[in-house]
Amino acid sequence: MRPSSFFTPQNALACALLAAPLLVTCAIAQDRTTEQGEAQITDPNEECTPYYYAPVGQAVAAGQFPPLWTPATILDNDTNAQNKYNSISGQIPNIAPKGTQPQSLEGNWTGFSYPSTDPDCWWTFDQCTTPKLAGLSPDLSVVPEPNTLGYGFDDGPNCSHNAFYDYLQENDQKATMFYIGSNVLDWPLEAQRGLADGHELCVHTWSHRYMTALTNEEVFAEFYYKSLTLLQMQAIKLVAGVTPTCWRPPFGDVDDRVRAIAKAMGLRTIIWQYDSNDWRAGTGNITDADVDANYDTLITRVQNGSFNTEGTIMLTHELNNFTMSEAMKFYDQLKAAFKYIVPLGVATNQTQPYVETDYAQPNFEQYISGTTTLSGNPPLPTSGSTTSGGSTGGSSPSSGATTGTTGTNTGGARRLAFDGPGVGGLAASALFIAGVLRLLM
Ligand SMILES: [Zn+2]
Repeated sequence: MRPSSFFTPQNALACALLAAPLLVTCAIAQDRTTEQGEAQITDPNEECTPYYYAPVGQAVAAGQFPPLWTPATILDNDTNAQNKYNSISGQIPNIAPKGTQPQSLEGNWTGFSYPSTDPDCWWTFDQCTTPKLAGLSPDLSVVPEPNTLGYGFDDGPNCSHNAFYDYLQENDQKATMFYIGSNVLDWPLEAQRGLADGHELCVHTWSHRYMTALTNEEVFAEFYYKSLTLLQMQAIKLVAGVTPTCWRPPFGDVDDRVRAIAKAMGLRTIIWQYDSNDWRAGTGNITDADVDANYDTLITRVQNGSFNTEGTIMLTHELNNFTMSEAMKFYDQLKAAFKYIVPLGVATNQTQPYVETDYAQPNFEQYISGTTTLSGNPPLPTSGSTTSGGSTGGSSPSSGATTGTTGTNTGGARRLAFDGPGVGGLAASALFIAGVLRLLM
């Protein structure tokens, strides 16, 4: 886990000093049973200390979710999920899974051959975003409005995101948050904050795997949960009360089979045009300065008129303190360079971001005119305010703070940012061995 690059223990110290004369501690003062209480915590160590949230704890105890951070499957005896799967199975094209999905988060295509014609519009192969299967819409990889940045963050909710979310709030800036289901159950109050702050919540799957490597049922199960709701969506719904209609594939790994399953489940597929590589800083040869350079390159490009006909999307993360600090570090420059910075659903006028019809999102014109949220948001659940016994709910005591980060350390697409080596040469070869591709990316 990276050291924090911008959080300091000063807040906790100040809290202790203030509290001492009153003979109370900040720990007692903290309310970790509501979104509002959790949002007040400013010490990242406190933020990342697991807590018990009753609805999640009860649901997990009742066996309503697969194990966290493992590839999801349809649970035994879950006839609703099975029936739902059966109902959409006719819409799934006959495309075989690609490679294998080991227990690690890494994809593995050793020995897997794939035609250079890219018959399945496999993004990992050649960044294909226009499906070849009839009836599928193109992935969203750019935004239609010129000089506009479609603003989004993957891999949340992160347990120590309060400083980042406070910053966005101070700037009245909304974003699209691609939450991982396992993170949502680890940090349900943080997920609730995403909705309460007016961000757009989208799906980033249950366990953050290479989706094209999974079987049809596994792909389905990464999305779905019981009672005719969707898995990750159910995870979000349990804590936030909404069912998303958009998703982003982990690593960008999507093909027409996975797109077809997502579509059948009501999910629009969202990719990106540039990768900040923030998720890779500190690994391999990628340094913090490289991430700075990627941000700088994007800013230079907008200044040079590269986005005068349509806007763009850059992959950035809520993965750790570094990625969030980079987002804050460059926000003012992005704001000055781009004409508009808007959530992805706003950029595409998705005025109903969730299945629930009582929640509305401003369209692009409304947002840039200053209406960044619309009324009618559903109330946050209140049933989580009860605690029981201090036992952990959705996770083991350590899994939140540890797997919440390690589970996504390899998150984000294995794609070099900007002018990194492409895979066009590989695509032109007769056969594609993705193991080679991995070495190059
Ligand atoms: Zn991710």
